[in-house]
Amino acid sequence: MTTVAITGAGRGIGLELVRQHVDAGDRVIALVRNPEKARELADLAATADGRLTIHRLDVADDASVKAGAAETAGEAVDVLYNVAGVSGPVPAELESADWAEWDDVFRIMVQGPLRVLQAFLPRLGAGSKVINFSSQLAASTWPYGGYYSYVAAKAGLNRLMRSVAIDLKDRGVIVGLVHPGWVQTDMGGEAADLTPVESAEGIRKLAREWTLERSGDFLKWNGETHPW
Ligand code: NDP
Repeated sequence: MTTVAITGAGRGIGLELVRQHVDAGDRVIALVRNPEKARELADLAATADGRLTIHRLDVADDASVKAGAAETAGEAVDVLYNVAGVSGPVPAELESADWAEWDDVFRIMVQGPLRVLQAFLPRLGAGSKVINFSSQLAASTWPYGGYYSYVAAKAGLNRLMRSVAIDLKDRGVIVGLVHPGWVQTDMGGEAADLTPVESAEGIRKLAREWTLERSGDFLKWNGETHPW
């Protein structure tokens, strides 16, 4: 049976990945910072024959990540999805910036994925995949301003995970960076192009087909290569 672990699993694209993996018969380790609020996850778990379990894990907090991962220690993980993210301040911060918010954005979206990867690393073997949620805003081709902390964090994540991909190649662990599309979630808003269903379907296919030769690549949800 395929086992997947998903951060940010309580809503948005993370929740839809949970739903689709459960429907596919997979074992799902759902990681959320507030299990009490994750009602839809609880409903899914009630009908998943024990294949879906919910664990508290705040990607911004080292102790929480270690404790959350330890709850399923010993289970090998085939796919680790680093989904959790926040948008940070939107307007251009030319004259001043909210540095506390910058710290949060980086703790969640740069350090977070590495922290989670470290906690799960003993359970990742040859052929295991780590799929990191990046964004088109990370690329030099993104034509708009604003979102300073978000663009900086996602660009940092891309470069960080490319290095991690190189360092994990000998172990056969595959590391991917994915732009999920502009998706109708709390973050993407109602006007976005894609439904969470479409985005998650594409990303699951990518996760199945990603090869070691393409470890460290930045792809779109539909399999196209994303420019850096
Ligand atoms: P949502 O805003 O719908 O959901 C964000 C998720 O991240 C929530 O589950 C939230 O949990 C979780 N999260 C935030 N901070 C933490 C934390 N410290 N620890 C654990 N979980 C946390 O976002 P999307 O589903 O739209 O986005 C998913 C990913 O895709 C993000 O990384 C985002 O940057 C990226 N992305 C999204 C795009 C879009 O158009 N939607 C476009 C490009 C990239 P909680 O409920 O507790 O707040």
